[in-house]
Amino acid sequence: MPQADEARAEGPRRTAFDWTDAEARRRADAGLVRTLRPRAAESDLLDLASNDYLGLTRRPAVTEGAAEAARRWGAGSTGSRLVTGTTRLHTRLERELADFCGFEAALVFSSGYTANLAALTALGGRDALIVSDAANHASIVDGCRLARAETAVVPHTDPEAVRKTLDAHPGRRALVVSDSVFSVDGDKAPLPELAAACRAHGAGLVVDDAHGLGVLGDGGRGALHEAGLAGDEDVVATLTLSKSLGSQGGAVLGPARVIEHLVNAARTFIFDTGLAPAAAGGALAGLRALVAEPELAERARTVAGTLHRLLTDAGLTSARPDAAVVSVRAPSPEAALRWAADCREQGLGVGCFRPPSVPDGISRLRLTARADLDDAQIERAVGTILRTAPAVP
Ligand code: PMP
Repeated sequence: MPQADEARAEGPRRTAFDWTDAEARRRADAGLVRTLRPRAAESDLLDLASNDYLGLTRRPAVTEGAAEAARRWGAGSTGSRLVTGTTRLHTRLERELADFCGFEAALVFSSGYTANLAALTALGGRDALIVSDAANHASIVDGCRLARAETAVVPHTDPEAVRKTLDAHPGRRALVVSDSVFSVDGDKAPLPELAAACRAHGAGLVVDDAHGLGVLGDGGRGALHEAGLAGDEDVVATLTLSKSLGSQGGAVLGPARVIEHLVNAARTFIFDTGLAPAAAGGALAGLRALVAEPELAERARTVAGTLHRLLTDAGLTSARPDAAVVSVRAPSPEAALRWAADCREQGLGVGCFRPPSVPDGISRLRLTARADLDDAQIERAVGTILRTAPAVP
């Protein structure tokens, strides 16, 4: 039989990734298709969707810090940190970050994601027990998996459950890991209680302060500083440089011996190309802006409180924000999606969380309280959210 006839007789040609079509249909049927929408560089959209908590990402001092770094050191870092990817900018950023947040040492990474993977894999390991909050960020979940440690997932913000889990493994090397501020509901972890449970067991505490840096603590020094735990010899912080600092990248902060261990053992440090100079320069300029204007942190918290008050006064359900994330409940995933789309149509960008990103099945709008929003913008945002709100069933 000629080849073409043979193919026809066998039906449509099969390829290795045909199965993804079935996955796509399943997502479409469930209304869970995610799409990429490039944003405009200049836009009238009022942005309450980004993580630019302090409004620093477009500050001339920050963009110039990034541009100057690229001009001086190149568009890329040219290699891994241990080979050619470390510049004076990286070491300066590490020193200033550690000093600002109150830790002995710091190490910067290409993202907060790789920073979490580094901390958990290098400090966890097959013989360790990791105790992880059920609502921890995906990068922590992946870090626990990659660490190949036994991982006990404990109920959300439940220090008693952490204590019991540690008690059930006396003498076992253990790490407790938690977000400081949870990215979906914006609530805070009970850090003093977690630290006490760790101390009683001799466990290390790893806290992802992605949403606390720049917002919580004295002048934005973060949740660990606020809790009096910065610089504690049993505590490690992980950070992103992509939210409050207005740039891109991540960091791990902790005792010098822990940082030295990461330099030698963390695969996402050793085998990843170093943070781009522009990202390091932007983050350093963002950090210096925060040092120069400590009131930015308080302003972000005040804006969050105002948004929450205006929305709950109008009858919407919103958890009290502990930092700059304001979450508003929607009656269903479809309603959340439509609500966010209607807001966008009326000039307001908001985040939208639906399953599977929210394991509790509750869909929400997620608003970012930015320090640079003025009162008129806050009023406009609240007006739009209320006008477009779905009817409560
Ligand atoms: N941890 C938390 C709590 C986050 O919200 C994020 C960012 N979404 C990350 C880690 C990852 O940081 P990055 O985006 O810098 O990789």
